[in-house]
Amino acid sequence: MNWKAHDLNRPRPPVIEPSVQPGSAERSSDAIVLFDGTESSLENWQSQAGGPTKWIVSDGAFEAVPGSGYVFTRMGFGDCQLHIEWAAPLPAEGEGQGRGNSGVFLMGLYEIQILDSYQNDTYPDGQAGSIYGQYPPLVNACRPPGHWQSYDVVFRRPHFRPDGSLEQVARVTLLHNGVLVQDRVELWGPTGWLQHDPYQAHGDRLPLSLQDHGNPVRFRNIWLREISETAEVGSPVPVSESVVRLTQVVLAKHVGRYETGNGAACKFRVREVLQEYRLQCALYDDRWLDLVPHSTTDFSFRWTAGRIEFSLDDEGIPASVWIQVAEKEIRAKKVD
Ligand code: MG
Repeated sequence: MNWKAHDLNRPRPPVIEPSVQPGSAERSSDAIVLFDGTESSLENWQSQAGGPTKWIVSDGAFEAVPGSGYVFTRMGFGDCQLHIEWAAPLPAEGEGQGRGNSGVFLMGLYEIQILDSYQNDTYPDGQAGSIYGQYPPLVNACRPPGHWQSYDVVFRRPHFRPDGSLEQVARVTLLHNGVLVQDRVELWGPTGWLQHDPYQAHGDRLPLSLQDHGNPVRFRNIWLREISETAEVGSPVPVSESVVRLTQVVLAKHVGRYETGNGAACKFRVREVLQEYRLQCALYDDRWLDLVPHSTTDFSFRWTAGRIEFSLDDEGIPASVWIQVAEKEIRAKKVD
């Protein structure tokens, strides 16, 4: 069943009790420290207008000052692993969205909701651990107000084409107090209250921001690792390589058994796959690997890096083959 945003009839995620240890509190050597409890780490943050933030450091915590506005990191970030710890105010005041509300805005646009969701009901896509207005958490792993809680986030930024159109949506994985609450969810666009704005092309790196929603939510131990951008979908052939289409008759000339100097063998056959004829190769065993033709003698593996080059005899028939794959280089002569 599909739900509109902020639907109070939506089933509540099960309430669970998280473990006592707050997530991966210890940071790795490549982490960028954004707040470590010191006044000096405020240098990493600024107000929306660009000046010093009015949020305060109190008892080693970075505390939202109601009415002072959001805070932004000075640096911009794209794909990242983020660790952040937060505590809702004690005693708890207000209810629903009014209790312990803040938020982590990835790239300043995509909110992971912070809310005191301990025995405090609200619409599920607005409770702690939700992607605000889009995805409720898988479970409610909230600790009581005043207790430190952790978010561990894996964020993949959206990608845009040069013309500004969307190429790849943003994705978020989130652990709340060490418990998986968002599993690589695909964001519809920037998060918002009562509205769904479509993606709008933006930079690859934008500041992280924390929300002032009128509650003195506290933060500590904020660090982030930049992670390398991965290709989301493997491509059978790099764009730069041309592919030729060979007939069954031409491919059949390569078929046979080829032996190396030490007697090891590789085999080639032709099979029809998805209405095209493909040359396939078996190295060492009987696993047949699809090949992609780049000429009548030059092939690559469809899914694995490597090359296959046939040498022809005087009559233009393949007589030997050179194969490079993984750390192997194979030279083999056709034996039948
Ligand atoms: Mg919020």
